[in-house]
Amino acid sequence: MPSSSPSPSVPGCFSFFSRKGSRRDVEQPKAVAPPKDSTYDDVKRTIPSAHQHFEPCCSPTHGFTSAAGVKPFLDDLPAYTSDGKVLSSDVRETIKTAIESYRDPLTAISLYISDNPELAYKEYKSAAKLVAFLESEGFAIEKGYKGLETAFKATYSQGKGRTWAFNSEYDALPEVGHACGHNLIAIGGVAALLGVRAAMKKHGIDGTVVLIGTPAEEGGAGKVVLIERGGYKGIDGCMMIHPAGFEANTGGVLTTLAFQTIAVEFFGRTTHAGAAPWDGINALDAANISYTSISALRQSLHPTDRVHGIIIDGGEAPNIIPDYTSMKYYVRASRANGVEELMTKVIACFKGAAEATGCKLKFMTEPITYDLRNNKLFAEEYASAMSELYNVPIPIELGEGSNPGASTDFGNVTYALPACHPMFGVPATLGRGNHTKEFRDKCRTEQAHTETLHAATAMSIVGARFLSDQAFADGATEWWKEDMKS
Ligand SMILES: [Zn+2]
Ligand SMILES: [Zn+2]
Repeated sequence: MPSSSPSPSVPGCFSFFSRKGSRRDVEQPKAVAPPKDSTYDDVKRTIPSAHQHFEPCCSPTHGFTSAAGVKPFLDDLPAYTSDGKVLSSDVRETIKTAIESYRDPLTAISLYISDNPELAYKEYKSAAKLVAFLESEGFAIEKGYKGLETAFKATYSQGKGRTWAFNSEYDALPEVGHACGHNLIAIGGVAALLGVRAAMKKHGIDGTVVLIGTPAEEGGAGKVVLIERGGYKGIDGCMMIHPAGFEANTGGVLTTLAFQTIAVEFFGRTTHAGAAPWDGINALDAANISYTSISALRQSLHPTDRVHGIIIDGGEAPNIIPDYTSMKYYVRASRANGVEELMTKVIACFKGAAEATGCKLKFMTEPITYDLRNNKLFAEEYASAMSELYNVPIPIELGEGSNPGASTDFGNVTYALPACHPMFGVPATLGRGNHTKEFRDKCRTEQAHTETLHAATAMSIVGARFLSDQAFADGATEWWKEDMKS
């Protein structure tokens, strides 16, 4: 999950904001007709090309460890209490045994992915490795799922029934590789798929179970693209798991922040800064006024809101009035509607700066990455399994209070259908959690893989119950519908 600044090495629209190279060398956003009485263009893209998102994953500063200690927001949460109605212990045991039997090949795949870190939409080796294994296991495979080269879908069907999905991520971060542990997420999804299939075969559970390989979580919001292209159509419930720098045998079902990026350009007019400054229109002034306005706005934000940005282009030389500047901002809030409200205020700062300086303003917003709306029934079944099988307590916090400041494109999945995204603990050195080289190395250990298979087993149990228990599936769906009303 989230980093807060792009790397020039990330392909796609990152090049649009690169400090190197001229704006004239790169693709400009396609403008819609600007308002007649305005000096700005509001450019919004809907279905993005593969590189138009910059969704960041876990925040190393606001995320899963803190300077003060590990899991700072977990201790005060209410303990989970089961209603006693869970998937039968026979089926649970089938899933647990099946997943454990795949430990060696899954660990090998995880280490291969960790050894070959690939950035958003370029996860060729990782996707191929996963697909090859799933093919060898007899799953029906769709490669290049929904037009994304490194997305895939693996399916097992038996009789008629509901469709359940798991997600696997396998993209890495620039410079630090698999420092968010997506190598573990990748095999977690595969393990859970194998577990449900084993349960379906042994216990006669009808339905369909799929694994969607979802690229570009750290930069590119691959799941948003897949949703927009119908990649989750026909799926009734979905889950994925994510490692975090907790302690061993910990975890939680927590929320994340909704999130949107805005890329801004100001166009002015060059002139000699000493000889004839009155002939210029200073685009850097517009950037400066924007930055200052947003900084003032920050005082009135809600505690969970975040607005943070950078100036990418600030001119060419001190003796030339800059005719061009570009900026990039992230806007985060607890819920998507909060992002929309906050973005309106942020855009007003840019418009005001354009008005004040006489610059022309062009901006481009990306689709909103939503907050996590974890499904209560899925979370409780997951927590029950983790507690019963591994004696791991799982706090469940479905409201906005536990928000760790992170963001994930799986949030959009939870808005599209009943879904859940538990976090599981991989022991980390204090203050060296997700997005650090130290955490990358922790995600290669035997203990990390044990934690992954435990979480995958609990997730697989939720999937098996969804397929086999009509009341559970109906209840989860109804709960989701109600939750979407709020
Ligand atoms: Zn991350
Ligand atoms: Zn991540």
